[in-house]
Amino acid sequence: MEINKLKEELIAYSKEIGIDKIGFTSADPFTELKNRLTKQQELGYQSGFEEPDIEKRVNPSNLLEEPRSIISIALAYPSKMNERVESKKGERRGIFSRASWGLDYHHILKDRLQKLEEFILSKVPEARLKSMVDTGELSDRAVAERAGIGWSGKNCAIITPEFGSYVYLGEMITSIPFVPDTPIEDQCGTCTKCLEACPTGALIQGGQINAQRCISFLTQTKGIIPDEFREKIGNRIYGCDSCQTACPHNKGKNFHFHKEMEPDLEIAKPLLRPILKLSNREFKNQFGSVAGSWRGKKPIQRNAIIALAHFKDETAVPDLITILENEPSAAIKGTTAWALGKIGGETANAALKKAKEQETDIEVQIEIEKGLSFKN
Ligand code: SF4
Ligand code: SF4
Repeated sequence: MEINKLKEELIAYSKEIGIDKIGFTSADPFTELKNRLTKQQELGYQSGFEEPDIEKRVNPSNLLEEPRSIISIALAYPSKMNERVESKKGERRGIFSRASWGLDYHHILKDRLQKLEEFILSKVPEARLKSMVDTGELSDRAVAERAGIGWSGKNCAIITPEFGSYVYLGEMITSIPFVPDTPIEDQCGTCTKCLEACPTGALIQGGQINAQRCISFLTQTKGIIPDEFREKIGNRIYGCDSCQTACPHNKGKNFHFHKEMEPDLEIAKPLLRPILKLSNREFKNQFGSVAGSWRGKKPIQRNAIIALAHFKDETAVPDLITILENEPSAAIKGTTAWALGKIGGETANAALKKAKEQETDIEVQIEIEKGLSFKN
């Protein structure tokens, strides 16, 4: 089949199956990305979640034999909830970032890529294809940028003119030499709104991010969160959207194209206190379907404790004391001691003093001392 015709048919088919934007690029190595990643590594800015082998991330031929093109796909996700949470007085809620609203996007994108693969194979049975989403070796953003899906903003997100940066990205390496599309020109200009909006100064001029300072990354870690970030995390229990909501190109962008992406309020904006008591099974039942659950229950619980401290929620004190007395994880226990100190009050203070006498873990001891030092 003639390649340009196949490309046209593929574009038409992608619309039918709910792909909002599709772009094509060559399978050449991503040389610029290689330099950027090497620099990231040297500066210690990487998150540690990415594929450690830079060569694999920049060279498609390490992933598919004789690759000839890469197809990039984008699906737009909602930026506003259609429903509002009925807030009762005294009920405190946390928030998951938008990329964790609705069904885990990895499943949604994999489904679309699978359909695309089937379509291609029905036309070119000998084609070799390899699809990936987020956790694959290639950088979704570098592919999307080169395939003309959007430009890479100073907030390190891919910004599409149509849907802003509220898009999920995935890609497929192919053995078919599709004609590449043209990249979109950078439209950030002199704007620095995202840099100013970032609560932790994680964005660095020139479109770099220090993951070690980024709340989105920090909320996904498993250990104790460094002091300087705890208050800045606020009630974010997974991810952070500040550098996206600040972007003028996202103004008015709110698309509800995909039913699976609609957030369930009790998951996307859950009550904080019940999170403290969830069993593993209950956690899976409530949060298992969303992207933000991928690191398990503990990071979400730790973040909920930080959020309760942010609200100075005194009604949480009894549950926090139970955690302080029974929790095996030092990260959770230490965060709890700090939170009890932040919330303050006689009961919290008495529990901290008692814990101080009994605690043997150094990390937790330090947090108990901090908790006791807060003047409330
Ligand atoms: Fe900063 Fe949040 Fe953006 Fe991370 S996600 S760079 S913390 S604004
Ligand atoms: Fe670019 Fe401004 Fe958007 Fe940042 S806020 S990504 S600088 S347009």
